[in-house]
Amino acid sequence: MNPIFGREDKNWRTILVKFLIITISIVAILYFVLITGGTKKVFVQLMYIPIILSSTFWGSYVGLLVGLICGILAGPFIPLDVSNAIMQDPLNWISRSLIFSFIGFFTGQMIERINRLNLEKQERNFKSPFYDLPNAQRLLNDIKNRIKSKEYFKLLSIKLTNLNEIEKYVDNKIVFDIVDNIVKRLMHYCDRQAIYSYEKDELIVLTCKNCSENYEDKVKEVLEDYFASPITINGYKIRVSLKVGVYIYKGEDNSPIDIYNKARIAYEQGEIKESGVYYYDVNLENKRREIHNITGALLESIQRNEMFVVYQPKIDIINNKISGVEALVRWKRNGNEFIGPNIFIPIAEEIGFINKISKFVFDNVTTQIKEWKSKGIELKCSVNTSVHELIDDTYIAWANDIITSKKVDRTEFEIELTERAISYNDTRLINKMNYLKGLGYQISIDDFGTGYNSLMSVGEIPFDKLKIDKYFIDRIHKIEIAELIKLFIEYAHTLGKVVIAEGVETEEQLNTLKMMNCDEVQGYYYSKPLLPEDIETFYHEFNKAKV
Ligand code: C2E
Ligand code: MG
Ligand code: MG
Repeated sequence: MNPIFGREDKNWRTILVKFLIITISIVAILYFVLITGGTKKVFVQLMYIPIILSSTFWGSYVGLLVGLICGILAGPFIPLDVSNAIMQDPLNWISRSLIFSFIGFFTGQMIERINRLNLEKQERNFKSPFYDLPNAQRLLNDIKNRIKSKEYFKLLSIKLTNLNEIEKYVDNKIVFDIVDNIVKRLMHYCDRQAIYSYEKDELIVLTCKNCSENYEDKVKEVLEDYFASPITINGYKIRVSLKVGVYIYKGEDNSPIDIYNKARIAYEQGEIKESGVYYYDVNLENKRREIHNITGALLESIQRNEMFVVYQPKIDIINNKISGVEALVRWKRNGNEFIGPNIFIPIAEEIGFINKISKFVFDNVTTQIKEWKSKGIELKCSVNTSVHELIDDTYIAWANDIITSKKVDRTEFEIELTERAISYNDTRLINKMNYLKGLGYQISIDDFGTGYNSLMSVGEIPFDKLKIDKYFIDRIHKIEIAELIKLFIEYAHTLGKVVIAEGVETEEQLNTLKMMNCDEVQGYYYSKPLLPEDIETFYHEFNKAKV
Protein backbone atom coordinates (compact mmCIF):
# COMPACT_ATOMS: atom_id res chain seq x y z
CA MET A 1 0.00 0.00 0.00
CA ASN A 2 1.20 3.44 -0.78
CA PRO A 3 1.08 5.50 2.48
CA ILE A 4 0.28 8.77 0.74
CA PHE A 5 -2.11 7.76 -1.96
CA GLY A 6 -3.79 4.90 -0.17
CA ARG A 7 -3.48 2.66 -3.22
CA GLU A 8 -0.51 1.30 -5.10
CA ASP A 9 -0.08 3.56 -8.09
CA LYS A 10 3.24 3.07 -9.73
CA ASN A 11 2.42 4.77 -12.95
CA TRP A 12 3.54 8.37 -12.52
CA ARG A 13 2.12 9.41 -15.85
CA THR A 14 -1.34 8.43 -14.67
CA ILE A 15 -0.77 10.31 -11.41
CA LEU A 16 0.23 13.42 -13.35
CA VAL A 17 -2.83 13.21 -15.60
CA LYS A 18 -5.11 12.82 -12.57
CA PHE A 19 -3.38 15.71 -10.82
CA LEU A 20 -3.88 17.93 -13.88
CA ILE A 21 -7.57 16.97 -14.13
CA ILE A 22 -8.12 17.97 -10.50
CA THR A 23 -6.12 21.21 -10.72
CA ILE A 24 -7.68 22.34 -13.99
CA SER A 25 -11.19 21.55 -12.79
CA ILE A 26 -10.63 23.53 -9.53
CA VAL A 27 -9.30 26.56 -11.45
CA ALA A 28 -12.13 26.31 -14.02
CA ILE A 29 -14.80 26.12 -11.29
CA LEU A 30 -13.32 29.12 -9.44
CA TYR A 31 -13.30 31.10 -12.68
CA PHE A 32 -16.87 30.03 -13.41
CA VAL A 33 -18.00 31.09 -9.88
CA LEU A 34 -16.37 34.52 -10.43
CA ILE A 35 -17.94 35.15 -13.84
CA THR A 36 -21.38 34.02 -12.67
CA GLY A 37 -21.42 36.63 -9.90
CA GLY A 38 -19.77 35.02 -6.83
CA THR A 39 -20.50 32.40 -4.16
CA LYS A 40 -24.10 33.54 -3.67
CA LYS A 41 -24.90 31.39 -6.75
CA VAL A 42 -25.10 27.62 -6.47
CA PHE A 43 -22.12 26.99 -8.78
CA VAL A 44 -19.63 26.91 -5.92
CA GLN A 45 -21.10 23.46 -5.15
CA LEU A 46 -19.38 22.23 -8.35
CA MET A 47 -16.27 21.96 -6.15
CA TYR A 48 -17.60 18.56 -5.01
CA ILE A 49 -16.53 17.19 -8.39
CA PRO A 50 -12.71 17.57 -7.94
CA ILE A 51 -13.06 16.67 -4.22
CA ILE A 52 -14.90 13.40 -4.88
CA LEU A 53 -12.61 12.63 -7.82
CA SER A 54 -9.48 13.07 -5.71
CA SER A 55 -10.79 10.84 -2.92
CA THR A 56 -11.70 8.25 -5.61
CA PHE A 57 -8.21 8.49 -7.06
CA TRP A 58 -6.14 8.60 -3.89
CA GLY A 59 -8.24 7.81 -0.84
CA SER A 60 -9.76 9.60 2.15
CA TYR A 61 -6.78 11.67 3.37
CA VAL A 62 -6.13 13.22 -0.03
CA GLY A 63 -9.91 13.76 -0.32
CA LEU A 64 -9.85 15.61 3.03
CA LEU A 65 -6.87 17.74 1.95
CA VAL A 66 -8.36 18.63 -1.44
CA GLY A 67 -11.67 19.46 0.30
CA LEU A 68 -9.84 21.85 2.62
CA ILE A 69 -7.87 23.47 -0.24
CA CYS A 70 -11.05 23.91 -2.31
CA GLY A 71 -12.82 25.41 0.72
CA ILE A 72 -10.01 27.93 1.28
CA LEU A 73 -9.66 28.76 -2.46
CA ALA A 74 -13.41 29.37 -2.70
CA GLY A 75 -13.30 31.21 0.65
CA PRO A 76 -11.76 34.60 1.56
CA PHE A 77 -10.54 35.30 -2.04
CA ILE A 78 -13.88 34.93 -3.79
CA PRO A 79 -16.59 37.55 -3.19
CA LEU A 80 -20.13 36.61 -2.21
CA ASP A 81 -21.44 39.11 -4.79
CA VAL A 82 -18.93 40.21 -7.47
CA SER A 83 -20.95 43.11 -8.92
CA ASN A 84 -21.55 44.71 -5.47
CA ALA A 85 -18.06 43.73 -4.14
CA ILE A 86 -19.53 42.01 -1.05
CA MET A 87 -17.09 39.55 0.53
CA GLN A 88 -18.15 36.31 2.25
CA ASP A 89 -18.83 36.08 5.93
CA PRO A 90 -15.81 34.05 7.40
CA LEU A 91 -18.25 31.76 9.21
CA ASN A 92 -19.78 30.96 5.82
CA TRP A 93 -16.55 29.92 4.00
CA ILE A 94 -15.03 28.23 7.07
CA SER A 95 -18.08 26.01 7.54
CA ARG A 96 -18.13 25.31 3.77
CA SER A 97 -14.45 24.31 3.93
CA LEU A 98 -15.23 21.94 6.78
CA ILE A 99 -18.12 20.40 4.82
CA PHE A 100 -15.88 20.01 1.72
CA SER A 101 -13.18 18.29 3.82
CA PHE A 102 -15.72 16.03 5.46
CA ILE A 103 -17.22 14.99 2.10
CA GLY A 104 -13.71 14.38 0.68
CA PHE A 105 -12.78 12.24 3.68
CA PHE A 106 -16.10 10.40 3.89
CA THR A 107 -16.23 9.56 0.16
CA GLY A 108 -12.64 8.30 0.36
CA GLN A 109 -13.54 6.08 3.34
CA MET A 110 -16.55 4.65 1.50
CA ILE A 111 -14.52 3.93 -1.63
CA GLU A 112 -11.71 2.33 0.38
CA ARG A 113 -14.23 0.10 2.11
CA ILE A 114 -15.78 -0.98 -1.19
CA ASN A 115 -12.28 -1.68 -2.57
CA ARG A 116 -11.40 -3.70 0.52
CA LEU A 117 -14.56 -5.80 0.22
CA ASN A 118 -13.87 -6.37 -3.48
CA LEU A 119 -10.34 -7.41 -2.68
CA GLU A 120 -11.52 -9.84 -0.02
CA LYS A 121 -14.04 -11.30 -2.44
CA GLN A 122 -11.33 -11.59 -5.06
CA GLU A 123 -9.03 -13.30 -2.55
CA ARG A 124 -11.79 -15.78 -1.79
CA ASN A 125 -12.29 -16.39 -5.50
CA PHE A 126 -8.58 -16.99 -5.86
CA LYS A 127 -8.30 -19.51 -3.07
CA SER A 128 -8.32 -23.27 -3.55
CA PRO A 129 -11.41 -24.95 -2.11
CA PHE A 130 -9.19 -27.82 -0.88
CA TYR A 131 -5.98 -26.38 0.51
CA ASP A 132 -4.58 -23.13 1.85
CA LEU A 133 -3.17 -22.29 -1.59
CA PRO A 134 -4.11 -20.03 -4.51
CA ASN A 135 -6.30 -21.69 -7.12
CA ALA A 136 -6.40 -22.19 -10.90
CA GLN A 137 -7.94 -18.79 -11.59
CA ARG A 138 -5.14 -17.08 -9.70
CA LEU A 139 -2.60 -19.16 -11.57
CA LEU A 140 -4.00 -18.18 -14.96
CA ASN A 141 -4.04 -14.50 -13.90
CA ASP A 142 -0.44 -14.70 -12.70
CA ILE A 143 0.68 -16.42 -15.91
CA LYS A 144 -1.04 -13.65 -17.87
CA ASN A 145 0.86 -10.97 -15.93
CA ARG A 146 4.16 -12.79 -16.43
CA ILE A 147 3.52 -13.00 -20.19
CA LYS A 148 2.67 -9.28 -20.24
CA SER A 149 5.87 -8.38 -18.44
CA LYS A 150 7.78 -10.57 -20.93
CA GLU A 151 9.32 -12.74 -18.22
CA TYR A 152 10.47 -16.29 -18.95
CA PHE A 153 9.40 -18.94 -16.48
CA LYS A 154 8.87 -22.65 -15.96
CA LEU A 155 5.53 -24.18 -15.16
CA LEU A 156 5.52 -27.47 -13.28
CA SER A 157 2.39 -29.51 -13.00
CA ILE A 158 2.70 -32.02 -10.15
CA LYS A 159 0.14 -34.81 -10.32
CA LEU A 160 -0.36 -36.99 -7.27
CA THR A 161 -1.23 -40.14 -9.13
CA ASN A 162 -2.32 -42.34 -6.26
CA LEU A 163 -4.20 -39.77 -4.17
CA ASN A 164 -7.55 -41.28 -5.10
CA GLU A 165 -6.51 -44.73 -3.91
CA ILE A 166 -5.09 -43.31 -0.67
CA GLU A 167 -8.34 -41.44 -0.12
CA LYS A 168 -10.37 -44.54 -0.85
CA TYR A 169 -8.37 -47.22 0.92
CA VAL A 170 -6.53 -45.40 3.71
CA ASP A 171 -8.24 -42.31 5.05
CA ASN A 172 -9.95 -39.51 3.20
CA LYS A 173 -8.67 -36.80 5.54
CA ILE A 174 -5.07 -37.86 5.23
CA VAL A 175 -4.74 -36.37 1.73
CA PHE A 176 -4.71 -32.86 3.25
CA ASP A 177 -1.74 -33.79 5.44
CA ILE A 178 0.02 -35.36 2.48
CA VAL A 179 -0.39 -32.27 0.33
CA ASP A 180 0.71 -30.08 3.23
CA ASN A 181 3.79 -32.24 3.65
CA ILE A 182 4.60 -31.97 -0.08
CA VAL A 183 4.04 -28.19 -0.15
CA LYS A 184 6.39 -27.75 2.81
CA ARG A 185 9.08 -29.75 1.01
CA LEU A 186 8.59 -27.76 -2.19
CA MET A 187 8.82 -24.49 -0.24
CA HIS A 188 12.47 -25.21 0.60
CA TYR A 189 13.22 -24.25 -2.98
CA CYS A 190 10.63 -21.58 -3.77
CA ASP A 191 8.10 -19.11 -2.31
CA ARG A 192 4.79 -20.42 -1.04
CA GLN A 193 3.02 -17.97 -3.37
CA ALA A 194 4.57 -19.80 -6.33
CA ILE A 195 2.61 -22.97 -5.45
CA TYR A 196 -0.99 -23.33 -6.60
CA SER A 197 -3.60 -26.02 -6.27
CA TYR A 198 -5.22 -26.68 -9.64
CA GLU A 199 -7.26 -29.68 -8.61
CA LYS A 200 -7.34 -31.82 -5.50
CA ASP A 201 -4.60 -34.08 -6.85
CA GLU A 202 -2.65 -31.51 -8.82
CA LEU A 203 -0.23 -28.84 -7.63
CA ILE A 204 1.33 -26.27 -9.91
CA VAL A 205 4.55 -24.34 -9.43
CA LEU A 206 5.07 -21.16 -11.41
CA THR A 207 8.78 -20.52 -10.96
CA CYS A 208 9.82 -17.06 -9.81
CA LYS A 209 13.05 -15.21 -9.03
CA ASN A 210 13.24 -16.82 -5.58
CA CYS A 211 12.92 -20.37 -6.94
CA SER A 212 16.07 -22.47 -7.25
CA GLU A 213 17.42 -22.28 -10.77
CA ASN A 214 16.97 -25.94 -11.63
CA TYR A 215 13.81 -26.23 -9.71
CA GLU A 216 12.62 -29.35 -11.52
CA ASP A 217 15.77 -31.22 -10.42
CA LYS A 218 14.96 -30.36 -6.81
CA VAL A 219 11.38 -31.55 -7.34
CA LYS A 220 12.81 -34.73 -8.83
CA GLU A 221 14.79 -35.32 -5.63
CA VAL A 222 11.68 -34.73 -3.52
CA LEU A 223 9.73 -37.05 -5.77
CA GLU A 224 12.31 -39.82 -5.62
CA ASP A 225 12.32 -39.51 -1.85
CA TYR A 226 8.57 -39.92 -1.68
CA PHE A 227 8.68 -42.89 -3.98
CA ALA A 228 11.67 -44.63 -2.44
CA SER A 229 10.65 -44.30 1.20
CA PRO A 230 7.04 -44.15 2.29
CA ILE A 231 6.16 -41.19 4.51
CA THR A 232 4.57 -41.73 7.87
CA ILE A 233 1.46 -39.61 8.47
CA ASN A 234 -0.95 -40.16 11.37
CA GLY A 235 0.56 -43.59 11.91
CA TYR A 236 0.06 -44.67 8.27
CA LYS A 237 3.04 -45.50 6.09
CA ILE A 238 2.20 -44.10 2.69
CA ARG A 239 3.98 -44.28 -0.63
CA VAL A 240 3.03 -41.25 -2.68
CA SER A 241 3.62 -41.38 -6.40
CA LEU A 242 4.06 -38.08 -8.20
CA LYS A 243 4.31 -37.29 -11.87
CA VAL A 244 5.68 -33.93 -12.96
CA GLY A 245 5.17 -32.20 -16.28
CA VAL A 246 7.45 -29.26 -17.09
CA TYR A 247 6.83 -26.56 -19.66
CA ILE A 248 9.52 -23.92 -20.22
CA TYR A 249 8.05 -20.63 -21.39
CA LYS A 250 10.35 -18.57 -23.58
CA GLY A 251 8.08 -15.86 -24.89
CA GLU A 252 6.02 -17.87 -27.42
CA ASP A 253 2.62 -16.61 -28.42
CA ASN A 254 0.52 -18.61 -25.99
CA SER A 255 -2.51 -18.08 -23.82
CA PRO A 256 -2.26 -18.91 -20.07
CA ILE A 257 -4.52 -21.94 -20.45
CA ASP A 258 -2.40 -23.24 -23.36
CA ILE A 259 0.69 -22.92 -21.20
CA TYR A 260 -0.96 -24.83 -18.39
CA ASN A 261 -2.16 -27.52 -20.81
CA LYS A 262 1.37 -27.98 -22.11
CA ALA A 263 2.69 -28.77 -18.62
CA ARG A 264 -0.19 -31.22 -18.24
CA ILE A 265 0.40 -32.86 -21.62
CA ALA A 266 4.02 -33.32 -20.52
CA TYR A 267 3.15 -35.38 -17.46
CA GLU A 268 0.49 -37.35 -19.29
CA GLN A 269 3.18 -38.89 -21.47
CA GLY A 270 4.42 -40.79 -18.41
CA GLU A 271 3.13 -44.31 -17.81
CA ILE A 272 -0.20 -44.27 -16.01
CA LYS A 273 1.12 -44.96 -12.52
CA GLU A 274 4.81 -44.17 -12.85
CA SER A 275 6.62 -41.39 -11.04
CA GLY A 276 8.93 -39.15 -13.04
CA VAL A 277 9.66 -35.71 -14.47
CA TYR A 278 8.59 -35.21 -18.07
CA TYR A 279 9.29 -32.22 -20.31
CA TYR A 280 6.86 -30.87 -22.85
CA ASP A 281 7.74 -31.43 -26.46
CA VAL A 282 5.65 -30.60 -29.53
CA ASN A 283 5.52 -34.23 -30.69
CA LEU A 284 3.63 -35.09 -27.54
CA GLU A 285 0.73 -33.00 -28.65
CA ASN A 286 0.63 -34.87 -31.96
CA LYS A 287 0.80 -38.16 -30.06
CA ARG A 288 -2.12 -37.06 -27.90
CA ARG A 289 -4.12 -36.17 -30.97
CA GLU A 290 -3.25 -39.58 -32.40
CA ILE A 291 -4.49 -41.30 -29.22
CA HIS A 292 -7.68 -39.31 -29.55
CA ASN A 293 -8.10 -40.57 -33.12
CA ILE A 294 -7.32 -44.14 -32.09
CA THR A 295 -9.98 -44.09 -29.39
CA GLY A 296 -12.76 -43.45 -31.88
CA ALA A 297 -11.49 -46.01 -34.40
CA LEU A 298 -10.91 -48.64 -31.68
CA LEU A 299 -14.60 -48.80 -30.87
CA GLU A 300 -15.32 -49.87 -34.46
CA SER A 301 -12.28 -52.10 -34.95
CA ILE A 302 -13.96 -55.44 -34.19
CA GLN A 303 -17.04 -54.66 -36.20
CA ARG A 304 -14.84 -53.70 -39.13
CA ASN A 305 -12.87 -56.97 -38.90
CA GLU A 306 -9.64 -55.12 -38.23
CA MET A 307 -8.64 -57.24 -35.24
CA PHE A 308 -7.05 -60.65 -35.44
CA VAL A 309 -5.09 -62.98 -33.18
CA VAL A 310 -1.54 -64.25 -33.61
CA TYR A 311 0.16 -66.97 -31.59
CA GLN A 312 3.69 -67.17 -30.26
CA PRO A 313 5.11 -70.61 -29.45
CA LYS A 314 6.44 -71.43 -25.99
CA ILE A 315 9.18 -74.04 -25.90
CA ASP A 316 9.74 -76.55 -23.11
CA ILE A 317 13.56 -76.52 -23.06
CA ILE A 318 13.85 -79.45 -20.67
CA ASN A 319 11.99 -81.87 -22.97
CA ASN A 320 12.61 -79.91 -26.21
CA LYS A 321 8.95 -79.67 -27.23
CA ILE A 322 6.36 -77.01 -27.89
CA SER A 323 4.56 -76.51 -24.60
CA GLY A 324 1.89 -74.17 -25.92
CA VAL A 325 1.24 -70.80 -27.51
CA GLU A 326 0.37 -67.31 -26.29
CA ALA A 327 -2.49 -65.54 -28.04
CA LEU A 328 -1.66 -61.91 -28.84
CA VAL A 329 -4.19 -59.58 -30.35
CA ARG A 330 -3.35 -57.46 -33.40
CA TRP A 331 -5.08 -54.42 -34.88
CA LYS A 332 -4.69 -53.25 -38.44
CA ARG A 333 -6.47 -49.93 -38.54
CA ASN A 334 -8.12 -49.32 -41.92
CA GLY A 335 -6.63 -52.62 -43.02
CA ASN A 336 -3.09 -51.31 -43.44
CA GLU A 337 -1.88 -49.37 -40.41
CA PHE A 338 -0.53 -51.58 -37.65
CA ILE A 339 -1.16 -50.39 -34.08
CA GLY A 340 0.57 -52.31 -31.27
CA PRO A 341 -1.34 -53.73 -28.28
CA ASN A 342 0.91 -51.73 -25.97
CA ILE A 343 -0.82 -48.64 -27.36
CA PHE A 344 -4.43 -49.72 -27.74
CA ILE A 345 -4.86 -52.13 -24.79
CA PRO A 346 -4.36 -49.40 -22.13
CA ILE A 347 -6.79 -47.16 -24.06
CA ALA A 348 -9.29 -50.01 -24.32
CA GLU A 349 -8.99 -50.55 -20.55
CA GLU A 350 -9.60 -46.90 -19.89
CA ILE A 351 -12.66 -46.57 -22.13
CA GLY A 352 -14.18 -49.88 -21.05
CA PHE A 353 -13.67 -51.60 -24.41
CA ILE A 354 -11.28 -54.24 -23.08
CA ASN A 355 -14.16 -56.63 -22.39
CA LYS A 356 -15.09 -56.65 -26.07
CA ILE A 357 -11.48 -57.33 -27.08
CA SER A 358 -11.12 -60.12 -24.53
CA LYS A 359 -14.34 -61.78 -25.75
CA PHE A 360 -13.11 -61.49 -29.32
CA VAL A 361 -9.76 -63.11 -28.40
CA PHE A 362 -11.42 -65.85 -26.33
CA ASP A 363 -13.81 -66.62 -29.14
CA ASN A 364 -10.98 -66.85 -31.67
CA VAL A 365 -8.75 -68.89 -29.41
CA THR A 366 -11.42 -71.49 -28.61
CA THR A 367 -12.25 -71.88 -32.30
CA GLN A 368 -8.56 -72.20 -33.10
CA ILE A 369 -7.91 -74.81 -30.40
CA LYS A 370 -10.76 -76.91 -31.83
CA GLU A 371 -9.49 -76.57 -35.37
CA TRP A 372 -5.92 -77.52 -34.39
CA LYS A 373 -7.25 -80.45 -32.42
CA SER A 374 -9.16 -81.69 -35.47
CA LYS A 375 -5.81 -81.63 -37.32
CA GLY A 376 -4.07 -83.56 -34.53
CA ILE A 377 -2.29 -80.50 -33.16
CA GLU A 378 -2.55 -80.34 -29.37
CA LEU A 379 -1.58 -76.88 -28.12
CA LYS A 380 -2.33 -75.23 -24.81
CA CYS A 381 -3.11 -71.60 -25.28
CA SER A 382 -2.62 -68.65 -22.96
CA VAL A 383 -4.63 -65.44 -23.09
CA ASN A 384 -3.73 -62.09 -21.52
CA THR A 385 -6.31 -60.72 -19.12
CA SER A 386 -6.56 -57.40 -17.39
CA VAL A 387 -7.04 -57.57 -13.62
CA HIS A 388 -9.95 -55.11 -13.79
CA GLU A 389 -12.04 -57.40 -15.93
CA LEU A 390 -11.13 -60.45 -13.89
CA ILE A 391 -12.46 -58.78 -10.75
CA ASP A 392 -15.72 -58.25 -12.58
CA ASP A 393 -17.96 -61.35 -12.20
CA THR A 394 -19.19 -61.21 -15.79
CA TYR A 395 -15.73 -62.21 -17.08
CA ILE A 396 -15.85 -65.71 -15.64
CA ALA A 397 -19.49 -66.09 -16.71
CA TRP A 398 -18.97 -65.26 -20.38
CA ALA A 399 -15.64 -67.14 -20.54
CA ASN A 400 -17.45 -70.24 -19.25
CA ASP A 401 -20.26 -69.72 -21.78
CA ILE A 402 -17.82 -69.57 -24.69
CA ILE A 403 -15.88 -72.59 -23.48
CA THR A 404 -19.01 -74.68 -22.94
CA SER A 405 -20.58 -73.72 -26.24
CA LYS A 406 -17.36 -74.55 -28.13
CA LYS A 407 -16.88 -77.77 -26.11
CA VAL A 408 -13.25 -77.13 -25.21
CA ASP A 409 -11.56 -78.03 -21.97
CA ARG A 410 -10.64 -75.32 -19.45
CA THR A 411 -7.36 -77.07 -18.71
CA GLU A 412 -6.23 -76.13 -22.21
CA PHE A 413 -6.26 -72.49 -21.18
CA GLU A 414 -3.81 -70.40 -19.32
CA ILE A 415 -4.73 -66.95 -18.06
CA GLU A 416 -1.87 -64.45 -17.97
CA LEU A 417 -2.08 -61.63 -15.46
CA THR A 418 0.60 -58.97 -15.34
CA GLU A 419 2.47 -58.85 -12.04
CA ARG A 420 2.17 -55.05 -11.92
CA ALA A 421 -1.55 -55.39 -11.21
CA ILE A 422 -1.27 -58.15 -8.61
CA SER A 423 -0.78 -57.69 -4.90
CA TYR A 424 -0.85 -60.61 -2.49
CA ASN A 425 -2.97 -58.59 -0.04
CA ASP A 426 -5.65 -57.81 -2.62
CA THR A 427 -8.00 -60.43 -1.20
CA ARG A 428 -10.70 -59.89 -3.82
CA LEU A 429 -8.30 -60.66 -6.64
CA ILE A 430 -6.62 -63.55 -4.84
CA ASN A 431 -10.05 -65.12 -4.19
CA LYS A 432 -10.92 -64.75 -7.87
CA MET A 433 -7.62 -66.36 -8.90
CA ASN A 434 -8.24 -69.26 -6.53
CA TYR A 435 -11.73 -69.66 -7.94
CA LEU A 436 -10.40 -69.75 -11.52
CA LYS A 437 -7.81 -72.35 -10.56
CA GLY A 438 -10.57 -74.37 -8.92
CA LEU A 439 -12.48 -74.29 -12.23
CA GLY A 440 -9.45 -75.80 -13.97
CA TYR A 441 -7.76 -72.78 -15.58
CA GLN A 442 -4.00 -72.42 -15.30
CA ILE A 443 -2.69 -69.03 -14.17
CA SER A 444 0.56 -67.33 -15.22
CA ILE A 445 2.12 -64.30 -13.59
CA ASP A 446 3.18 -62.28 -16.61
CA ASP A 447 6.02 -59.71 -16.75
CA PHE A 448 7.36 -60.99 -13.46
CA GLY A 449 9.85 -58.60 -11.81
CA THR A 450 8.10 -55.42 -12.96
CA GLY A 451 5.57 -55.34 -10.12
CA TYR A 452 5.77 -54.46 -6.46
CA ASN A 453 5.69 -57.93 -4.90
CA SER A 454 8.69 -59.19 -2.99
CA LEU A 455 9.85 -62.65 -3.96
CA MET A 456 8.63 -64.02 -0.63
CA SER A 457 5.11 -62.60 -0.98
CA VAL A 458 4.76 -64.29 -4.39
CA GLY A 459 4.27 -67.55 -2.48
CA GLU A 460 0.94 -66.20 -1.30
CA ILE A 461 -0.39 -65.67 -4.82
CA PRO A 462 -2.16 -68.65 -6.44
CA PHE A 463 -0.48 -69.37 -9.79
CA ASP A 464 1.03 -72.13 -11.92
CA LYS A 465 3.61 -70.37 -14.04
CA LEU A 466 6.03 -67.50 -13.54
CA LYS A 467 6.92 -65.54 -16.69
CA ILE A 468 10.17 -63.64 -16.15
CA ASP A 469 9.96 -60.29 -17.91
CA LYS A 470 12.05 -59.55 -21.02
CA TYR A 471 13.73 -56.70 -19.09
CA PHE A 472 15.73 -59.28 -17.12
CA ILE A 473 16.43 -61.57 -20.08
CA ASP A 474 17.85 -58.59 -22.04
CA ARG A 475 20.32 -58.04 -19.16
CA ILE A 476 21.07 -61.66 -18.35
CA HIS A 477 24.77 -61.11 -19.27
CA LYS A 478 25.09 -58.86 -16.20
CA ILE A 479 26.18 -60.87 -13.23
CA GLU A 480 23.78 -59.27 -10.72
CA ILE A 481 20.78 -59.76 -13.03
CA ALA A 482 21.80 -63.35 -13.75
CA GLU A 483 21.91 -63.96 -9.97
CA LEU A 484 18.45 -62.48 -9.63
CA ILE A 485 17.01 -64.66 -12.41
CA LYS A 486 18.59 -67.70 -10.79
CA LEU A 487 16.94 -66.73 -7.53
CA PHE A 488 13.53 -66.34 -9.25
CA ILE A 489 13.85 -69.78 -10.83
CA GLU A 490 15.04 -71.54 -7.68
CA TYR A 491 12.36 -69.95 -5.52
CA ALA A 492 9.55 -70.74 -8.01
CA HIS A 493 10.80 -74.33 -8.16
CA THR A 494 10.70 -74.64 -4.38
CA LEU A 495 7.04 -73.59 -4.65
CA GLY A 496 6.52 -76.26 -7.32
CA LYS A 497 5.86 -73.75 -10.11
CA VAL A 498 6.93 -73.71 -13.74
CA VAL A 499 9.22 -70.88 -14.91
CA ILE A 500 9.19 -69.39 -18.40
CA ALA A 501 11.51 -66.68 -19.74
CA GLU A 502 10.00 -64.05 -22.03
CA GLY A 503 11.73 -62.34 -24.94
CA VAL A 504 14.56 -64.80 -25.52
CA GLU A 505 16.32 -63.62 -28.66
CA THR A 506 19.80 -65.16 -28.65
CA GLU A 507 21.46 -68.54 -28.24
CA GLU A 508 23.57 -67.20 -25.34
CA GLN A 509 20.44 -66.20 -23.45
CA LEU A 510 18.93 -69.62 -24.13
CA ASN A 511 22.05 -71.46 -22.97
CA THR A 512 22.32 -69.42 -19.78
CA LEU A 513 18.65 -70.12 -19.03
CA LYS A 514 19.16 -73.82 -19.67
CA MET A 515 22.04 -73.79 -17.20
CA MET A 516 19.80 -72.13 -14.66
CA ASN A 517 17.18 -74.89 -15.04
CA CYS A 518 14.55 -72.60 -16.53
CA ASP A 519 11.65 -74.75 -17.76
CA GLU A 520 10.38 -72.90 -20.80
CA VAL A 521 11.23 -69.98 -23.10
CA GLN A 522 9.28 -67.75 -25.43
CA GLY A 523 10.87 -65.32 -27.84
CA TYR A 524 12.10 -64.39 -31.27
CA TYR A 525 14.95 -66.91 -30.97
CA TYR A 526 12.39 -69.61 -31.67
CA SER A 527 9.65 -67.63 -33.32
CA LYS A 528 7.85 -64.32 -33.54
CA PRO A 529 4.05 -64.40 -32.99
CA LEU A 530 2.55 -66.18 -36.03
CA LEU A 531 -0.76 -66.49 -37.86
CA PRO A 532 -2.59 -69.79 -37.11
CA GLU A 533 -1.57 -71.45 -40.40
CA ASP A 534 2.08 -70.52 -39.78
CA ILE A 535 1.83 -72.02 -36.30
CA GLU A 536 0.85 -75.30 -37.95
CA THR A 537 3.96 -75.17 -40.18
CA PHE A 538 6.13 -74.27 -37.17
CA TYR A 539 4.62 -77.16 -35.20
CA HIS A 540 5.34 -79.72 -37.89
CA GLU A 541 8.84 -78.44 -38.63
CA PHE A 542 9.78 -78.31 -34.95
CA ASN A 543 8.62 -81.87 -34.40
CA LYS A 544 10.32 -83.05 -37.63
CA ALA A 545 13.63 -81.46 -36.53
CA LYS A 546 13.39 -83.34 -33.24
CA VAL A 547 13.21 -86.73 -34.87
P1 C2E B 1 2.96 -59.79 -22.99
O1 C2E B 1 1.77 -60.56 -22.60
O2 C2E B 1 4.09 -59.75 -22.04
O3 C2E B 1 3.41 -60.37 -24.39
C1 C2E B 1 4.73 -60.51 -24.79
C2 C2E B 1 5.10 -59.41 -25.72
O4 C2E B 1 6.48 -59.52 -26.02
C3 C2E B 1 4.39 -59.53 -27.07
O5 C2E B 1 4.26 -58.20 -27.56
C4 C2E B 1 5.39 -60.28 -27.92
O6 C2E B 1 5.21 -60.06 -29.30
C5 C2E B 1 6.67 -59.68 -27.41
N1 C2E B 1 7.81 -60.58 -27.59
C6 C2E B 1 7.85 -61.91 -27.40
N2 C2E B 1 9.08 -62.39 -27.63
C7 C2E B 1 9.86 -61.33 -27.95
C8 C2E B 1 11.25 -61.16 -28.28
O7 C2E B 1 12.03 -62.12 -28.34
N3 C2E B 1 11.68 -59.90 -28.55
C9 C2E B 1 10.85 -58.82 -28.50
N4 C2E B 1 11.35 -57.61 -28.77
N5 C2E B 1 9.54 -58.94 -28.19
C10 C2E B 1 9.06 -60.18 -27.92
P2 C2E B 1 2.89 -57.68 -28.11
O8 C2E B 1 2.21 -58.72 -28.91
O9 C2E B 1 3.17 -56.36 -28.74
O10 C2E B 1 2.02 -57.48 -26.81
C11 C2E B 1 2.34 -56.53 -25.87
C12 C2E B 1 1.48 -56.65 -24.65
O11 C2E B 1 0.12 -56.32 -24.96
C13 C2E B 1 1.42 -58.07 -24.10
O12 C2E B 1 2.55 -58.28 -23.31
C14 C2E B 1 0.15 -58.02 -23.31
O13 C2E B 1 0.35 -57.44 -22.04
C15 C2E B 1 -0.71 -57.08 -24.12
N6 C2E B 1 -1.65 -57.88 -24.93
C16 C2E B 1 -1.45 -58.48 -26.11
N7 C2E B 1 -2.57 -59.12 -26.49
C17 C2E B 1 -3.50 -58.93 -25.52
C18 C2E B 1 -4.86 -59.35 -25.33
O14 C2E B 1 -5.47 -60.08 -26.13
N8 C2E B 1 -5.49 -58.95 -24.17
C19 C2E B 1 -4.85 -58.18 -23.25
N9 C2E B 1 -5.53 -57.82 -22.14
N10 C2E B 1 -3.57 -57.78 -23.40
C20 C2E B 1 -2.91 -58.15 -24.52
MG1 MG C 1 1.45 -62.23 -21.82
MG1 MG D 1 4.98 -60.37 -20.67
